[in-house]
Amino acid sequence: MSSEFSGSTPLAAGTRSWPTGEQVMIGVFVAVPFLALLAAVPLAWRHGLSPVDLALAVAFYLVSGLGITVGFHRHFTHGSFKARRPLRIALALAGSLAVQGPLITWVADHRKHHKYSDRDGDPHSPWRYGHSPRALAKGMLHAHLGWLFETEHASARQYAPDLVRDRTLMTVSRRFGVLVLASVTLPALLGGALTRSWQGALTAFFWAGLVRICLVHHVTWSINSICHATGSRPFRSRDRSGNVWWLAPLSLGESWHNLHHADPTSARHGVLTGQLDASARLIRWFERLGWAYDVRWPDRRRVTGRRQDTP
Ligand SMILES: [Zn+2]
Ligand SMILES: [Zn+2]
Repeated sequence: MSSEFSGSTPLAAGTRSWPTGEQVMIGVFVAVPFLALLAAVPLAWRHGLSPVDLALAVAFYLVSGLGITVGFHRHFTHGSFKARRPLRIALALAGSLAVQGPLITWVADHRKHHKYSDRDGDPHSPWRYGHSPRALAKGMLHAHLGWLFETEHASARQYAPDLVRDRTLMTVSRRFGVLVLASVTLPALLGGALTRSWQGALTAFFWAGLVRICLVHHVTWSINSICHATGSRPFRSRDRSGNVWWLAPLSLGESWHNLHHADPTSARHGVLTGQLDASARLIRWFERLGWAYDVRWPDRRRVTGRRQDTP
């Protein structure tokens, strides 16, 4: 590990000018996979992607993605709102469909990330190996998905004792394998039923199962890699988290990551004018239905107090 990452001194927040090498590296890392994906879609449309596949893929993307952002992240990890029991369990199930690990492991790792963000102990910082373009390339890969292959995860008892005590949530967490199976077989069953064909089951399995999971994975992981390497930093935080506007629609509002690190319990991450935050919108609907309560909405004083330009 590089000495630049060692020590407990927080990294200076604020805007910084980028050396060209780093900029190029991040640009390549960001652009190439997305361009490949964009190129693949029209190609695939002519070879078996039907409107049914697309509708199922979008539906499963929203259920599993919002399960992560509203459920695993804003509710279970940070307690940005309280949820009635049926909603709490539904969110645990929906988030598990994103195939990002069992609920309690996810929450423990993420709480550890906030405790040590971009310092020693952070499970996934792109700055782990230093600041040179080469070190950053290695760090981006590590923050994006390399860290998932490390055998040591944050201790559930230490970082998520509140969830360990909940027997139903423990069961959902332990039955992760069954939920993974459901996440790939449900689209196939629905695709087959809606088109009344084996071909329809197979293409739905591919698009709404596999490709959808892949996309949810990479969008979530981009918050760990891209949003800790680049983006604007209008708010004070002790790490390198940034707001990345173009990831906001796909990440359902999670890419306003600088605000999130400045104010982790806020139910809304896109707090400034024009910042899309679909997850916050859903929390608002849950609140209106009476399913969510004690929501920690940001107010003007709370937001202004965290701005970089506030003394
Ligand atoms: Zn972060
Ligand atoms: Zn968080």
